[in-house]
Amino acid sequence: MIPRSDAIATLGSDSFDLAVVGGGITGAGVALDAASRGYSVALVERDDFAAGTSSRSSKLVHGGLRYLQNFDLGLVREALLERSLLVELAPHLVKPLPLLVPSLGGKRPDRLTGVGLNMYDAMSWRRGRDDEEWSPARHRTIDGAETVEMVPALAGRDPSAAYLFYDCQTDDSRLVLTVLGEAERFGAVCANGCEVTGLVERGGRAAGLLVRDTVAGGEFEVRAANVVNATGVWADRLRPDEIYAEEEVPRIRPSRGTHLTFAREALDVKAGVIVPAGGGRTVFVLPWLGRTLVGTTDNDYEGPLEHVPPGREDVAYLLEAVNGFFGTELVASDLTGAYAGVRPLISTGDPKKSVDISRKAELYETSSGLVTITGGKLTTWRRMAKLAVDRIVEREGREAACRTQEIPLGQPVEPDALPKVPSVDAEGRVHLAARYGHAAQFVLRLAEAAPELGRRISPALPDILAEAAFAAAHEQARTVGDVLLRRTRLGLLDAHALTAPRAQGPPAVARAMAAQLGWDDARVAREVADWRALAHVEGLVVPEAAATGAAA
Ligand SMILES: Cc1cc2nc3c(=O)[nH]c(=O)nc-3n(C[C@H](O)[C@H](O)[C@H](O)COP(=O)(O)OP(=O)(O)OC[C@H]3O[C@@H](n4cnc5c(N)ncnc54)[C@H](O)[C@@H]3O)c2cc1C
Repeated sequence: MIPRSDAIATLGSDSFDLAVVGGGITGAGVALDAASRGYSVALVERDDFAAGTSSRSSKLVHGGLRYLQNFDLGLVREALLERSLLVELAPHLVKPLPLLVPSLGGKRPDRLTGVGLNMYDAMSWRRGRDDEEWSPARHRTIDGAETVEMVPALAGRDPSAAYLFYDCQTDDSRLVLTVLGEAERFGAVCANGCEVTGLVERGGRAAGLLVRDTVAGGEFEVRAANVVNATGVWADRLRPDEIYAEEEVPRIRPSRGTHLTFAREALDVKAGVIVPAGGGRTVFVLPWLGRTLVGTTDNDYEGPLEHVPPGREDVAYLLEAVNGFFGTELVASDLTGAYAGVRPLISTGDPKKSVDISRKAELYETSSGLVTITGGKLTTWRRMAKLAVDRIVEREGREAACRTQEIPLGQPVEPDALPKVPSVDAEGRVHLAARYGHAAQFVLRLAEAAPELGRRISPALPDILAEAAFAAAHEQARTVGDVLLRRTRLGLLDAHALTAPRAQGPPAVARAMAAQLGWDDARVAREVADWRALAHVEGLVVPEAAATGAAA
């Protein structure tokens, strides 16, 4: 990406066809869609790209088996089609994942689940698809031995069988950064640390944005003929008077979802597992980036949205579900990390619980011409973006069809095709290829020029310091938290170690960034202290006393 200072200079001086507020997956998608249709596009993000819900998901690109229970057939079908398209457009970032629904204690596989999986298979089929396209194998039943092979953590539970089916998995914040990178290739200008405080109006119509630079201070205007509000769970804060003066606009109801991470040795899964949990719900136990990811909960949330820590009861609920199913005795001190996010659910006024509300996207245009797009899922970002940009194209009477179904997202690469750099081992190259695709070569070049950047940030995981340098130089990372939470995912996967009193990782990351950003020693120390404070308010480390959840 272009340096933030250059982006801000351009944002303040040029006029744009479209200004997008919000740098989560929806805003990034709108920027790519519009830019690739020939629009000049500005995108501003208040915090960091993907700092909202788009870095806090379950990382699944999926139809959502459980939405079938609600008969949200259209939603499931749409998401399944997007799933196969995304595997094709970003094969290094969106990967098929086997998932199991195991039966324990001599039980036979549940018939109703089988019926649901039959529907899931049928709905993922696409007419006219070519042979190259990814399409999951049909679901099947596997025996207990194969189940244990795929989920060693079930060895002591004597599983009798399991349903095996496929969905896909990604790294959500890397997906956002990749989509933004593509938008930039089509000319979009994107900057983080830019909070929109209001709209510029001309004759009662939105004609741009009032922006506060949260890094350098000061305000500036972005002139734009159209404005899209893609601020997710914050969508009704941009123009509350305008939005709520118009009756049909529904209220956004935040719902919190908590996730936990564990070392693979503590809970060894090679495939995803669907685990029954309290209240008739299920949770996912997923292999992700060398750890095991457990989530999620889904409860109405009324706290502040700026930093959403994992709920204590949510942690206890997840531990109880895992311990009950795997026969483990995992406690809070076994966690390597935890995080929470809020869904931008749309309240229909129905007092049903949020878990029952459809994940459909909502688009509405209010009197200033502001187009708001919210709700939806990570999986369906492309459709949401299309919906928003179609609306603008239509009202402007332009001829400009959506093209994002054919725009590759990054460029996959074989690890062996990457330059060999002595300070980076084979595991590191595989890891870099999966995260950056072809662009991994630029990270490796940094490690070649300064071999100390080939060192790992956390000994247990393959992320290297050159990624911090790359993020500061080319991905607008401004803080240690940006690097640990969203450029790499170590803040979620190894929070315990990275917040320990003498942890080496955070100062090493700060020094790698310092070389790019011109920080002195005092600034390095301040950035490390800020990381600790952030980890605390985000609740990345769950206090030991917070939850036990030992097997009943
Ligand atoms: C716990 C959980 C699990 C989930 N799991 C999945 C899953 O596995 N698969 C799936 O498909 N979906 C999943 N989802 C849903 C998915 O994550 C969200 O639908 C999606 O990330 C929303 O993206 P967004 O861009 O609309 O919102 P966000 O990512 O929240 O982006 C909005 C952005 O707007 C910025 N912003 C706000 N106000 C301003 C302002 N005034 N000026 C400038 N910027 C501003 C924010 O900082 C934020 O970055 C999950 C959601 C949750 C909460």
